[in-house]
Amino acid sequence: MRKQIVVGNWKMNGSRVTNEILVSHVINDVNENVDVECVICVPFPFLGQVQTLVKNSELSLGAQNVSDQVKGAFTGEVSASMLTEFGCKFVILGHSERRMYNLENDVLIGQKARSAIANGLTPIICLGESLEEREAGDTKAIIKRQLHGALGEVGHESLERCIFAYEPIWAIGTGKTAKPEAAQEVHRFIREEITHIDNYAGQQVRIIYGGSVKSDNAFELFSNDDIDGGLVGGASLSGEDFKKIYLAAKQKNK
Ligand code: PEP
Repeated sequence: MRKQIVVGNWKMNGSRVTNEILVSHVINDVNENVDVECVICVPFPFLGQVQTLVKNSELSLGAQNVSDQVKGAFTGEVSASMLTEFGCKFVILGHSERRMYNLENDVLIGQKARSAIANGLTPIICLGESLEEREAGDTKAIIKRQLHGALGEVGHESLERCIFAYEPIWAIGTGKTAKPEAAQEVHRFIREEITHIDNYAGQQVRIIYGGSVKSDNAFELFSNDDIDGGLVGGASLSGEDFKKIYLAAKQKNK
């Protein structure tokens, strides 16, 4: 069975004071439930602080972006090796907000993932369609393009080092969650695509759902066969809610 994983995406939120409160809400539960992984992806300036807060715990640290470049004259960029110096194990890539506001495309996202993997980080590669694309019946075509576009750069041999997040754009931050059976259908499709490349990887790779995951819908989503946990935005900013979502993933293991 694939290990469930719940990832908090703080986006551009947090402060030194609230970060400490948030981490203190979940850290004990995460230490006591090692069968479900928990990650928080925090803004770059807080990596040092949160690295200290999660030290010697089972709560893992991640970032929300990384450069595809190794070093040099790339003002404003942060390299994968810098992230590992701060104890990062994961990095979110290809989030729809970065695709939209920073014009990131599938190839660049794949190059960033390659750089992350080369430095021992696990990329969490986001895939998802817009409302117009869904209504036009293009969901699978979009997901397929995003998946293979990124994998073309990552290389099939590194497939197992990735986590994929299905995040329908129309469900992010809107309070509209994909129906569990609709989410499961897309997750199954992603797994089949991966299986066509590598049968073993198809069974091993974790595919998590993101898009208005809340404490009251998490279990219903996570209990589907091909949903291996969640990528949580807004609700990861409430210690109580994030803890409940994390514990919902644990219930699936029972
Ligand atoms: C996200 O930012 O990846 C996300 C899924 O946000 P939210 O949970 O707020 O919809």
